Amino acid sequence: MGIKTIGPTTINAKHRLICHCEAVEIELDLPDGVVDARRCDCSFCRRRGAIAGTISENGFRIVKGVDHIKRYQFGTKVAEHFFCDTCGIYTHHRRRSFPNLFGYNLGCLEGVNPFDLGEVPVFDGVNHPSDRPQNNK
Ligand SMILES: [Zn+2]
Repeated sequence: MGIKTIGPTTINAKHRLICHCEAVEIELDLPDGVVDARRCDCSFCRRRGAIAGTISENGFRIVKGVDHIKRYQFGTKVAEHFFCDTCGIYTHHRRRSFPNLFGYNLGCLEGVNPFDLGEVPVFDGVNHPSDRPQNNK
């Protein structure tokens, strides 16, 4: 159900994600390809501009550069946004709705040009599900 081919690139069952300066390298388990690729229009993502895929925490391994990974948080401080401290590129984030899920930067997947995806759904981050009244427990 995921996207297995993006432009000329086949998504491998284990695919590398690399920041721009290559200090940070992450291995992703993507047996179903890229799942749930989306943009988000929240105050942070509209500035960041990246398309994020979704992966469970246990399909995600930092291969190198853990010392270069910096964290940014805002608002409710549930989500954690990570980026390389050398090149500044967003690599991944811990989701707010499902903290055992990570989002990752599709543009950092080895060989992938996100513009080959065409239209990508936009997540309504301005009206985040966690902010809606029925979820205010
Ligand atoms: Zn970097």
